[in-house]
Amino acid sequence: MSIPIELNEKDCEFKAIVLDRVPTANLDMCLTCGTCTGGCPASEQMGMDPRKLVRMVLFGLDEEIKKHDWAWVCTMCARCFWECPMNIDIPKLVYNIRSSWPRDSRPKGILGSCDNHIRAGNAMGVPTDDFIWTVEDVAEEIRESSPEFADMQVTVDRKGAYMAINQNSREPVTEPDELGPLWKILHIVGADWTYPSVMWAGENYCLFLADDQGWKYILEEFVYHIDNNLGCKMVVNTE
Ligand code: SF4
Ligand code: SF4
Repeated sequence: MSIPIELNEKDCEFKAIVLDRVPTANLDMCLTCGTCTGGCPASEQMGMDPRKLVRMVLFGLDEEIKKHDWAWVCTMCARCFWECPMNIDIPKLVYNIRSSWPRDSRPKGILGSCDNHIRAGNAMGVPTDDFIWTVEDVAEEIRESSPEFADMQVTVDRKGAYMAINQNSREPVTEPDELGPLWKILHIVGADWTYPSVMWAGENYCLFLADDQGWKYILEEFVYHIDNNLGCKMVVNTE
């Protein structure tokens, strides 16, 4: 005859911390139905899946959860959350696991991208002057080679433009020709837009790093520049 497992609530410290920060996380409501696991792109990576993760939290396996690398494999896509019949917020659980890691021990790639963005305004660490030079150079090339786009406007920091559009920073560095198609569409529809020179990148790896301060700083600098220096009415995030 099997013996029931007795849980000591005091051992579920991490669950209490997460519920304190995210009262709507609903961790205690899990039915173990497996819907989250069935749709999760990270399921079974490293022998983990979202249903198992929730069970571990409820069993108070705090140390095992915090040191398992799986939290960094989760894409934060939130499919589990939207499909869960009990609205259990697994992405926010994962976010809190990530933030429990000392900042310097978080994955180097994400950490470096977040630090680059804080320092240079984009995850690739491209100096602003290089970004502006690339944009102007590619735009000029298009104007010269395609007569139908001879008067195409591509600007950085044009005051009073209706839209501020940001840009994945990988494209100006590794695939500059990929900048053109969006510009052409904007030109054809007559959009009034500009790139900002401050925090011009659309990505924000500080979100994935679970660095609240860095994430906030990037957004605040971006919004300040748009509101106070450019006066754009709308922001379009291309990421
Ligand atoms: S979908 Fe929700 S209720 Fe079902 S196992 Fe996953 S977390 Fe638990
Ligand atoms: S947010 Fe993470 S756990 Fe949820 S479905 Fe996406 S990858 Fe899986």
